[in-house]
Amino acid sequence: MTGKPERRLVVFSGSGISADSGLDTFRTSGGESLWAQYDPEVVCNFECWEENFSLVHEFYSRRREELGKAAPNRAHFLAVEWEKRYNAELITQNVDDLFERAGARYVMHVHGFLTAMRCTSCGAQWLFGYRRFAPEADRCPRCGRLESVKPNVVFFNEPAPRYAEMWRSLESLTEDDVLIAIGTSGLVLPIGQIARRCPATTILSNLESAVSPRDDDFDHVVHGHAAEIAPKLDKLVADLMRR
Ligand SMILES: [Zn+2]
Repeated sequence: MTGKPERRLVVFSGSGISADSGLDTFRTSGGESLWAQYDPEVVCNFECWEENFSLVHEFYSRRREELGKAAPNRAHFLAVEWEKRYNAELITQNVDDLFERAGARYVMHVHGFLTAMRCTSCGAQWLFGYRRFAPEADRCPRCGRLESVKPNVVFFNEPAPRYAEMWRSLESLTEDDVLIAIGTSGLVLPIGQIARRCPATTILSNLESAVSPRDDDFDHVVHGHAAEIAPKLDKLVADLMRR
């Protein structure tokens, strides 16, 4: 025993990791996508969600149904394997539960959790599952209000209470540690900038090169679909963790 602290591995993921499970993302183009049928500025906006209560719940009911039919893919299972092997910290911008269904012990969901509800009036939070929202049956279990029952997902213009915990984790990384960004566009959280400033060894795994984050913000880059690149990524992480 050297007394040195354990080398940390932080896995920071975005919607790209769940796209391979068939879940729609904001960035998906094409008229078939669920997102294309709704305006995110309307159904994911904290400033006007109450005015659009039915539409908001219709949209999130459909997303929960879609999630109920999806399954974790190889990238989720790989991250969970790293959690077991290296005690990896899983931070995700995703609101789906695919890491949990792949067996994760703990996932920091910085943008909330699709299969839960929150009451904006009394603060109650509860697990909801994959079913549709039914107004008369789904009042707040604590205060009984209906109009304050909101999907427990962080909307635009809404504070993200888990960001403090996320920044603590990212900003405490040292040169001994490894930070890997998987399937994240860098549009909501500036992961490219974060990686550039971070003293840890950084890895980007995205489908392809993009404007944000840029490949040269990272020490290592592995592009491709999760199923194809999983072995390569796993080997890279293993090499870095055993230095
Ligand atoms: Zn309540």
